[in-house]
Amino acid sequence: MGAVAGPEIERLVQLLARLPGLGPRSARRAALHLIKKREALMMPLTSALQVALDKVQVCKTCGNIDTQNPCTVCTDPKRDPAIIVVVADVADLWALERANATQGRYHVLGATLSPLDGVGPQDLTIDALVARAHAAEVHEIILALNATVDGQTTAHYITDLLQDANVKVTRLAHGVPVGGELDYLDEGTLSAAMRQRTLF
Ligand code: ZN
Repeated sequence: MGAVAGPEIERLVQLLARLPGLGPRSARRAALHLIKKREALMMPLTSALQVALDKVQVCKTCGNIDTQNPCTVCTDPKRDPAIIVVVADVADLWALERANATQGRYHVLGATLSPLDGVGPQDLTIDALVARAHAAEVHEIILALNATVDGQTTAHYITDLLQDANVKVTRLAHGVPVGGELDYLDEGTLSAAMRQRTLF
């Protein structure tokens, strides 16, 4: 397909198409929508992007992304300092927050161990996590990592390193999703759910 607009608009489309979840067609639709809603949407979006560009930083305590450092979660006095929830990525932290799943604080690893992709312990914030786990107020480390080979490898690696820390190390349950039908589950999930059954 040839260009239907000048290079500036094509550039906007190309940049939007790099966003996760947007292909070339929906990027074109989004660009057109922005242009039509110039005052109501494009201008506020431009200034929101500029503010984010100027102010967003990585929390020096937990690795969350915020406009304040330490972040909103780390400085919230209602958070339980005894619990640290370990996640691979900021997206996982935000997902847990959306679910209101914990009152603990977080630690973002940045990735999971992946020998095949050349991701080793030095690429993750594991040293900082071990240091935090040794603080007197910390009693539990919850490993909220993906139920993938890499996620579970990372969980085992961290558990070994926390042997000396005076903390309980737990991980998320594996099992039947809420609203899930048994007939549709894969064998791995079904057998994990059976192994990790709880008292009714
Ligand atoms: Zn933080």
